[in-house]
Amino acid sequence: MSLKDRLIRQIRMNGPMPVSAYMQTCLHDPRDGYYATRPGLGQDFITAPETSQIFGELLGLWATHEWQTMGRPSAISLVELGGGRGTLMADALRAIDGLPFETAMHVTLIEASPLLQELQASTLRKWSPVFKAGLEHVPTGYTIFLANEFLDCLPARQFVRDGENWRERVVGIGSDEALSFGIDASDVDPATLGTQPNSIRTHTFEVQPGLNGLVAALAARAEAGDCFRALFIDYGPRAHAPSDTLRAYRLGKQVHPFADPGTADLTVDVDFGRLARLAEKAGLHVSGPVTQGGFLGALGLQERLDRLIAAHPDRAEDLFKGASKLVDPAEMGERFKVICLSSPGLPAPVGL
Ligand code: SAH
Repeated sequence: MSLKDRLIRQIRMNGPMPVSAYMQTCLHDPRDGYYATRPGLGQDFITAPETSQIFGELLGLWATHEWQTMGRPSAISLVELGGGRGTLMADALRAIDGLPFETAMHVTLIEASPLLQELQASTLRKWSPVFKAGLEHVPTGYTIFLANEFLDCLPARQFVRDGENWRERVVGIGSDEALSFGIDASDVDPATLGTQPNSIRTHTFEVQPGLNGLVAALAARAEAGDCFRALFIDYGPRAHAPSDTLRAYRLGKQVHPFADPGTADLTVDVDFGRLARLAEKAGLHVSGPVTQGGFLGALGLQERLDRLIAAHPDRAEDLFKGASKLVDPAEMGERFKVICLSSPGLPAPVGL
């Protein structure tokens, strides 16, 4: 039975489900979920590390710098959340090869997809990575977390205005027996979700409950006395809450979120403003968000590109094209933001 048929059966039995539950099932259903079954990375959508090796290399150098800022501890975890094919980490590790940071760090990976875990374990086997089920399972101590295009996969709940009130958008079954959007009957107070719709004209807004759990786990580490940086890179607005940004991608094309559930990547914009507010309230130090273009520029993208081109003149055009895509405002440079959440007591991180 296809995931679509199973979803329809489930909705018939239990009633419509929140958009977040639909997203969670489409992405992570163990049998037919997108990430669980087909690591279509590089085909359905192209991420920054898959665009240019400079991305991961600069993050490796960023981590080295932050390790120095922490006082060069003799042991530190370098943790990636949602590492995809392992490209970012492999590029980061190549950049730190032979530096004292390499001796101090050990690699930990948090990855939901068993298939991608296998891929990461194989790509990174030289560094004997350890897999953990979640942030809260990473041993305490000095830590640098990196996450690119991880937050946008955290399922979002959607709320729709109904006169003065807000109601949750749900996935149900339409008159044609196909999946269809509906609206739950009960009112919801946005304040209880820790958010405020943008303006009186806003018709829809989204909330990713997973951001609360993420911040809580980091705050617990800070309270326990851990010293850490957590760098998140993703797309989304800097200040206002996203409205209806749920979308699906298959083979580089946008498709309807209900088209063959489980075969397309589902994603939403990240509410960076809300993430920053949650983190500040939890006592974390927030740096950014800044644009990806600004961040990578400050870390020396141009110098790294010049050096690479000098070393590989035959690849000059590809290297230039890839690097440009990362920082070009018309491509990834402005739409992607970078935010760093740190334990208290550290100076501002480089680049933010
Ligand atoms: N960072 C990579 C991959 C981005 S795709 C890159 O930039 O190329 C999103 C990644 O996050 C995938 O590896 C996916 O399996 C993982 N992922 C999504 N939700 C997750 C969750 N809740 N826990 C752990 N990993 C998750």
